[in-house]
Amino acid sequence: MFTIDAHLDLSMNAMEWNRDLRKTVFELRESEAGLNDKPDRAKGTVAFPELRKGNIGLVVATQIARYVATGNPLPGWHSPQQAWAQTQAQLAWYKSMEECGEMKMITTVNALNEHIDAWMNDDKQKPVGYILSLEGADSLVDISYIERAYNYGLRAIGPAHYGPGRYANGTDATGHLNEDGKTLLKEMERLNIILDTTHLCDDAFWDAMNLFHGHVWASHNNCRKFVNHNRQYSDEQIKVLIERGAVIGGAFDAWMLVPGWKRGISTPQSTHCNMEKVIDNIDHICQLAGNALHVGIGSDLDGAFGKEQCPYDLETIADLDKIPSLLLQRGYSNPDIENIMHGNWLRFLRKAWG
Ligand SMILES: [Zn+2]
Repeated sequence: MFTIDAHLDLSMNAMEWNRDLRKTVFELRESEAGLNDKPDRAKGTVAFPELRKGNIGLVVATQIARYVATGNPLPGWHSPQQAWAQTQAQLAWYKSMEECGEMKMITTVNALNEHIDAWMNDDKQKPVGYILSLEGADSLVDISYIERAYNYGLRAIGPAHYGPGRYANGTDATGHLNEDGKTLLKEMERLNIILDTTHLCDDAFWDAMNLFHGHVWASHNNCRKFVNHNRQYSDEQIKVLIERGAVIGGAFDAWMLVPGWKRGISTPQSTHCNMEKVIDNIDHICQLAGNALHVGIGSDLDGAFGKEQCPYDLETIADLDKIPSLLLQRGYSNPDIENIMHGNWLRFLRKAWG
């Protein structure tokens, strides 16, 4: 079934993991055998051949580069200008993948409709469509950079990532939006840029719900009900997102699926982490909504983790094609399943861009 994945750090993998995503996942694993500079070496799950194999023809693809002030222990760049430059390298990689026919940037409703028609009606050798999103706004040197980024195709921004941010604080941090964060939201609203609420800390999340009047999604987010952590959403947060017409993407990072995950120690098998756990999260949101119109997939696969930290019944991203049968077993109807696999993101985008 045609599938949309609303969160993949493709260019980060290309530029920081040094992965040529035109190769298969298995070729990439082989080329990384023996490397130990990152915990997920030789355990990647995402590459263009597997995206096509899984009929995943549209993704939300990120630019991501954090700024870290002196004393911030997180990895990142020492100036916003360096972070900006890193995101521009990532953009250059997307453009070069367009030049060799692997990808196609989608920024308008007409281009979206054409792309979907091509994938629905033809073979899988089409370019993978991508909507460009910025995960963490630190790299926007000042507010004027938002329009610069919009002009090269940026269509969604998550103001925060992990820890303190220049515009908003993120996962594992607290604190309300600062003046720059409020101005960022105003400028996003003016330019019709989608607000990705994923990674906003609770204080910033509720500020954003009050201040931002544009289109809101949560590209890769699971539920606090199953793993009680600030990175996950409480039922109250999910309910307000549903009221706002948001779509929430189910994420495949094991620590967000099973409680008590210990990085580098827990394994998917030892914690019984399989794709059913993703379905639990999707189902919980559907139960809160009373329908299947507010959930989708935002896998985050290869988001600085690989097979060592994702459901054990997923070998590569092509296995997202197992989700429809898992939903069917839970009693979901075919129209519901189509909505979850692609229809909800499409309806959202057509409304946002229409
Ligand atoms: Zn993320």
